[in-house]
Amino acid sequence: MKAARLVERRKPLEMTNLPDPVPGGGQVVIEVEAEGICRTDWNVWNGDWDWVGLVPALPLVMGHELGGTVVAVGPGVSAVRVGDRVTTPFHESCGRCGYCRTRRSNLCDAMEFLGLTHDGGYAQFATIRNADFNCITLPDSIDALSAAAIGCRYMTAFHAVTRQGRLAVGQWVAVHGAGGVGLSAVQIAAALGGRVIAVDLADGHQGPHRRRRRPGHRRPRGRLAGRVGRAVPAQGRSAGPGRPDQPGRARVRADTA
Ligand SMILES: [Zn+2]
Ligand SMILES: [Zn+2]
Repeated sequence: MKAARLVERRKPLEMTNLPDPVPGGGQVVIEVEAEGICRTDWNVWNGDWDWVGLVPALPLVMGHELGGTVVAVGPGVSAVRVGDRVTTPFHESCGRCGYCRTRRSNLCDAMEFLGLTHDGGYAQFATIRNADFNCITLPDSIDALSAAAIGCRYMTAFHAVTRQGRLAVGQWVAVHGAGGVGLSAVQIAAALGGRVIAVDLADGHQGPHRRRRRPGHRRPRGRLAGRVGRAVPAQGRSAGPGRPDQPGRARVRADTA
């Protein structure tokens, strides 16, 4: 199969031919139809994860935002079949530990990261571990490209808005950072009945509000300088796990009105 590999940090990826993967026990192989490029990939390429002990072994096929079709099923897999259209979380969890059993698989005791601890989706095929737990069957209305675009950032934003923010109908929500995760949080919060303000200082994230600026008017500086006061369509980059103070990262705060 063709694959783009990270061979050396901060150097261009290498296009290469690798053996087609064969699924081991509990695994499936997906033919990748769409693969997102995430800011997390940039962090991996840059070597930013050393501080949390995630130092990938190189060469590595990055990529953790994919949609595709199952083309091979390993022994012990019962819930996924050849031909299933699927996506996966960016972390692959065991499905058995206390966290996984209480629907907090993002904290799994035996976590693997697709495209970080093993090869991911910058290739024609990708192997998914513990497939019965980690493969998510796509409905007919979600194509592979959409699945690749929403998997990483929507699940991050969903937990931020629901589990952490505990948004209730009618509450005001300030979403700081209108990138991929932030705009997903805007959409999810709006869908759950929140009153949403997106805050961003980046010119490209401000949309019509910025274009309405009066001639000669200087953009104010400060925390609300980029206030967008309405829900805006999701677009732009996605972001995975990172430091809370990292530029461009979304933070969500829900306050009682
Ligand atoms: Zn991602
Ligand atoms: Zn687990």
